[in-house]
Amino acid sequence: MFGTPDASNDPLATSTRRCGGCGQPAVRCFHVTHHYYKGIPSGRTYEHRCEACGVTFETLSPWRIVTEILSALLLVPMGIFMTFAALANISSSWWLALIGLVMGGAGVWIGVSAVKAVLAETRNPRA
Ligand SMILES: [Zn+2]
Repeated sequence: MFGTPDASNDPLATSTRRCGGCGQPAVRCFHVTHHYYKGIPSGRTYEHRCEACGVTFETLSPWRIVTEILSALLLVPMGIFMTFAALANISSSWWLALIGLVMGGAGVWIGVSAVKAVLAETRNPRA
């Protein structure tokens, strides 16, 4: 289970997709990222390229979508809370507000990337 990651049996990595841009069934996955959180597999990111028009996009494994949305749901409220808590006590802990903003921003970015990957999945169906 924790051996060398192998995507050759993964249909999300090996199947050809129909391009949402040019309509050609010429989209191939050229890179798979295996994510781990503290040694626990937390899903895969697939990078695809259309060989007809050159467009690239990413999709996520279902488990990666779950872990990304969960981290976004955790980071955004924590970041907002930290920012406001720090601003209420600005003289001693202004830098906590910056950390809070970075956390909230990272959460939003992760959430947006998960949504974009789901949209890419529906726009570029497996052929
Ligand atoms: Zn294309």
